[in-house]
Amino acid sequence: MDKFLTVNAEKCTGCRLCEQVCSVMHEGVSNPAKSRIQVVKWEDEGRYIPMICQQCEDAPCMNVCPVGAISRDKDLGFLSVNHEVCIGCRSCVNICPFGAMNYNKSTHQVFKCDLCGGDPQCVRFCDVKALEFVGSDAVVARKKRDRALQQSEAAAAQS
Ligand code: SF4
Ligand code: SF4
Repeated sequence: MDKFLTVNAEKCTGCRLCEQVCSVMHEGVSNPAKSRIQVVKWEDEGRYIPMICQQCEDAPCMNVCPVGAISRDKDLGFLSVNHEVCIGCRSCVNICPFGAMNYNKSTHQVFKCDLCGGDPQCVRFCDVKALEFVGSDAVVARKKRDRALQQSEAAAAQS
């Protein structure tokens, strides 16, 4: 599937509903510490950035795992952990550049985003559309549009 989760941090209000939805969906409790998505906040500046797994093509978490416990779903493209194989070394937690591999202190298991099986609930519940689940074509088209708009505004300001 050629779709991925995107974040528009400028739209994020820091409400953290995505964290609640994620933890309820996956763990049955509303607990941000058990969410696969984490909103990093700079309250003084009013800046909020939802951090998500990038489902990296050349995934450091998968590459570093000494026992091959992390693999990619062939249909949906997300990476998941096989807990029957995982030895709990947390190398994947340590190496992920986005802080997207998490560790549950109660179960002693690592956990990460699984795109909710192709229908990410964080996206569904984000009213301001700071999170979207879109195809790469849509992302490229939007970037072109945004860039063209910036250039045309810059040209208008100079004239
Ligand atoms: S957990 Fe981290 S390293 Fe692994 S795919 Fe997600 S973003 Fe990439
Ligand atoms: S914690 Fe588990 S999944 Fe992560 S690197 Fe270690 S063995 Fe692999």
